[in-house]
Amino acid sequence: MATPLATAPADTHCPYCALQCAMTLTPTVDPAPGTTPVTVTGRAFPTNRGGLCAKGWTSAELLASGQRLTAPLLKQADGTFVEASWEHALDTVAAGVRSAQERHGSDAVAVFGGGGLTNEKAYQLGKFARVALGTSRIDYNGRFCMSSAAAAGNRAFGVDRGLPFPVSDLDTADTILLLGSNVAATMPPFIGHLSGARSRAGLVVVDPRRSATARLTEDGGGTHLQPAPGTDLALLLGLTHLVIAEGLADTAYLADRTSGYDAVRRSVSAWWPERTAATTGVPVELLRSTARRLAGDSVYILTGRGVEQHVDGTDTATAAINLALVLGLVGREGSGYGTLTGQGNGQGGREHGQKADQLPGYRSIRDPEARAHVASVWGVDPESLPGAGLPAVALLGELGGSVHCLLVHGSNVVVSAPDADAVRAGLAELDTLVVCDFFLSETAALADVVLPVTQWAEEEGTMTSLEGRVLRRRRALAAPDGVRSELWILSELARRLDAPSTWSTEPAEVFDELARASAGGVADYSGLSHALLDTGVEAYWPFPVGSAGTPRLFADRFGHADGRARLVAVTPDPARTDVTDRGGELTLVTGRYLQQYQSGTQTRRVRELDDARPEARLEIHPATASRLGIGEGAVVAVGNARGTVRARATVTADIRHDTVFLPFHYAGEQCANLLTEAAVDPVSSMPEFKRTRVWVRPDGAI
Ligand code: SF4
Repeated sequence: MATPLATAPADTHCPYCALQCAMTLTPTVDPAPGTTPVTVTGRAFPTNRGGLCAKGWTSAELLASGQRLTAPLLKQADGTFVEASWEHALDTVAAGVRSAQERHGSDAVAVFGGGGLTNEKAYQLGKFARVALGTSRIDYNGRFCMSSAAAAGNRAFGVDRGLPFPVSDLDTADTILLLGSNVAATMPPFIGHLSGARSRAGLVVVDPRRSATARLTEDGGGTHLQPAPGTDLALLLGLTHLVIAEGLADTAYLADRTSGYDAVRRSVSAWWPERTAATTGVPVELLRSTARRLAGDSVYILTGRGVEQHVDGTDTATAAINLALVLGLVGREGSGYGTLTGQGNGQGGREHGQKADQLPGYRSIRDPEARAHVASVWGVDPESLPGAGLPAVALLGELGGSVHCLLVHGSNVVVSAPDADAVRAGLAELDTLVVCDFFLSETAALADVVLPVTQWAEEEGTMTSLEGRVLRRRRALAAPDGVRSELWILSELARRLDAPSTWSTEPAEVFDELARASAGGVADYSGLSHALLDTGVEAYWPFPVGSAGTPRLFADRFGHADGRARLVAVTPDPARTDVTDRGGELTLVTGRYLQQYQSGTQTRRVRELDDARPEARLEIHPATASRLGIGEGAVVAVGNARGTVRARATVTADIRHDTVFLPFHYAGEQCANLLTEAAVDPVSSMPEFKRTRVWVRPDGAI
C-alpha cells in the first residue's frame, strides 16, 4: 500500500471526471490494515463548492486496494503472468519495439493514450511517439469522448475549449438548454450551477431517457424533451427554424460577428415544427415553448456525449452552435455555448500531442510553422517528425495488420472501444502488447508486458478542467514499492531506444517544456509553471507569458483569422431520421451510472461503489417488456450481428418504448460495447455509441 509522505494535508483534485472537484487529502498516521492511507474531504472551489460525489468521497480506497499492481508482469507461454524486474521488463518492451520496426517500419508501433493522464504525461507520450518511436500512430480514448464537439468548436470558433467561460457563470442563467448530458449522474456537484435556471423554470433537458437530470425539470416547471435517439440534429434544426420564424434571431450580432448565416437559414427552412415533431417525437408545443424560452436575456446551450457520440456528432454539435450563434449567445456576457468535457483531463489531454493530428498547444501536425517550433523545443529536425496518424478506431482496426506492437497508457480499450470483440481479436494478433496501468484491467490482462504505474495521489502534475482551467495535482503519498511513474518509464524507454532530445522525469520540468512547446498555439500555457499555479492563480488558457489568463473567450473576436464565428449549414442523413418500425428492433443507448466511471477499471474496485452498482441493468419500457415477455429483474439477452450482452432488466417508464439503455462500465458478457459499431463520424472520427440497433429477448440465468 502507498504510504503517507508527511502529516501535512495535500490540496489536490478528484481522480475522476472533468469537473475536477477540489479535495484535501489528509494522511492517516499509521493506517491499520484495510484502512485508507488518507482521508478525503471536499474543498471550497468555484466548481464544486466543497461538494464531492460518491466517486470522489470514496476515491481514497483506490490507494489502499489490494488489487494494486506492484511489479512488472511478463506473460508466459501458458498465458500466466510472472513478476519481472524493471530492467528486464523495459528491455523486453524495447526489444518488441525494435523487432516490429526493423521488420515492418516505424508505424508498426502504435501508442494509445488516455484522457485521464496528466498534462505532463500526455505531452511526454506525444513526444515519445514522434521522437523516440518515430511513429505517426498515436491516438487516445478522448477520440471516443470529445472529438466531435472539439471538431465542431474548431470549425465554428477556431478554438476548442469545452466551456469558454467559468462554470460559475451558469449560476445566474435564466435558461439552460442541456442536450445529451446526465450531469446528475456524471458530475453531481455541477447541479448547483443549474439552480438559477431551475428556479426560473428555465432548465430544458434533452434526453431520450427520463434521466436523473431530466427529473430535475419536474420540480420547478422546467422542460424535458425526449427525442428518438439519433434525431438530435433534426431537433436542433427545428428549434433554429422556429427561432428564425418567430423573429428571435439576433440579426445585428449575426451581421457583425459571424459568417454563413444565409446558408444556415436556408438549410433549416424545411424543418417546420410539424416535420420536426414527426421526426423526433417531441410535440410541437414543446418545440415552440423551448424556442421562445431561448430568446431570454441570460441563456446557455450546453451539449454532452448524448448528442455528440454519433456518426453525425460533429454536425449535431455544429447545429447546437448554429442555434447559439443565431440567438447571439456566444461571447455575450451572461450567455454562451459550451460542451461538458467528461474525462478528468479530457480537455488537457487533447491539447498537447496525444491526438493523431496534433502537436502541443493544440497545433496541427500538418502546419510547417508548428512543426518547426515544436521541433526546436525538442531539439530535433522538423523533417524527422512523422505526419498525421490514424484516429482511434482506424488505429485499432490496424492491430495485427500494419500495427504489430502497441503501447497502451491509461485506457481499457477492450471495454471502452466500439465493437469490443473485434478489438480483443486485434490485440491477440499483436507481437507485443504493453499496458501501463495501476490495476490489471481487462486490456492489461491480455498484455505481454504490464507496467505498474503511479496514480493520482502519488504524483505531481496538472490537469485542465472542463472550463479550460489548469489545476495542480499534488502528491500526498509515496507510491508503493515497485511502482514507477510514466514519466520515468518513457524516459527509460527513450534511453534504451537511443532517442534524441532530453527526457525529464520531473513533472515541473516537463510542464516547463510543455509550456515552451505550446507558446503561440491556441492552447498557450507559456506563462504558466507549477510554481505559479501553486500561488492559486486562476489559470484559464490561453495563458501566454505576461498575461493573466483568459476566463472568457470570444468577447471581442473568435479564433478564425477574420475574427468571425462560422455558421455551417448541416443536414441530417435521411436514414437517421427514418422512423420506420423494423419488426420490433430497438435502439440501444449507452451511458453511465453515478457510482461507476468509464470502463470501471477503478470504480469496480471500490467496494461501496460496486456494492451500489454491481452489474449492468438493461432499462426497458413496460410496454416493450410486456410485448417481449420480460419482467422486472429477469435476465435478458441483448444482441445484434456483433455480439450478445446478458443483463437483468429494469422495467421503467423513464425510457422511450423504442429505446433500451445499457451502462458501459462493465466487462465480459455485460460489456455494452460488444454491441456498438465501429462506424465513425467523417469529420471527427467519433464512433457511434448512442444509436445501435439491437434485439432483446428473455434469456436463461447469468
Ligand atoms: Fe470527482 Fe467528478 Fe464526482 Fe467531482 S463530480 S467528485 S470530479 S467524479
